[in-house]
Amino acid sequence: MNPRRAFLQTLAGSAALSAQASELEPAGNGYAHLRKVRLWESTRKEFREWIEGPGKKLVIVPTGSTEQHNEHLAMINDTASVTLVAEKAAMLSYPRVMVATPVPVGISPHWMDRKGTLTLTKETFLAVVFEICESLVAHGVAKILVLNGHGGNVLPLREAVPGFAKKLGIKIETNSYWDSYSRDTIKKHMESNKAPGHAGEFETSFAMAAFPERVRWEGVDYAKIKPQLRIKDPKSAIQEEEFAAEAKLASTAKGEAMIDIAVKWTASRVREMLA
Ligand SMILES: [Zn+2]
Repeated sequence: MNPRRAFLQTLAGSAALSAQASELEPAGNGYAHLRKVRLWESTRKEFREWIEGPGKKLVIVPTGSTEQHNEHLAMINDTASVTLVAEKAAMLSYPRVMVATPVPVGISPHWMDRKGTLTLTKETFLAVVFEICESLVAHGVAKILVLNGHGGNVLPLREAVPGFAKKLGIKIETNSYWDSYSRDTIKKHMESNKAPGHAGEFETSFAMAAFPERVRWEGVDYAKIKPQLRIKDPKSAIQEEEFAAEAKLASTAKGEAMIDIAVKWTASRVREMLA
């Protein structure tokens, strides 16, 4: 592939992402490019016309992390996963839903003994999410779904978001995209019977389906790498080894099935909030 084309594909998210987006074009609304649901790719004119146009509107604010995902997944995994779910749900709801710029760093102090992890304190993270919501409200947004993709953000968001809604006087709710998975769904699709987990079968399958260029399959061979790791907490080291073993069960087909469930569920959540 020539470098220019590769660069353009990076801008579009990834080749796989762009290709899949076209399969999810909303019926009856004609063709819409994925960029139309991305706030950060819109001009002020486009956003103004969207928010001032007819009908109720909603913005999804994705929250993720930049943290170690064992030896084989990219640090941006959680942010990329939740953004993909948000964008595809927005495409299904086009033109009523847009996606705000994702929050790329979350609350990850528990992974700081693995190189590369970035973390925010709970207060900083919540302040960033709040001020993004506040900005959206200033532009006339009246409904926001904070869609989360990282475990460490779950409880702080659950506790704080009702207060954000009250303070800003609009509807703001929060979910993690894996709230879409019932026990039965997980049992049906995951041999490890775990989702989301951390860099295990679920997250690895998701990444294989959504952005295979972020999977370094050779890193799944944990036995090879183990002697080089110096993880202080023995409990955490055992858990990591378990996840690495479970990652071997991952497949693209499992990822596709799980993404489809999360996207449809998020789209129906958004429909509920728009009603
Ligand atoms: Zn993760």
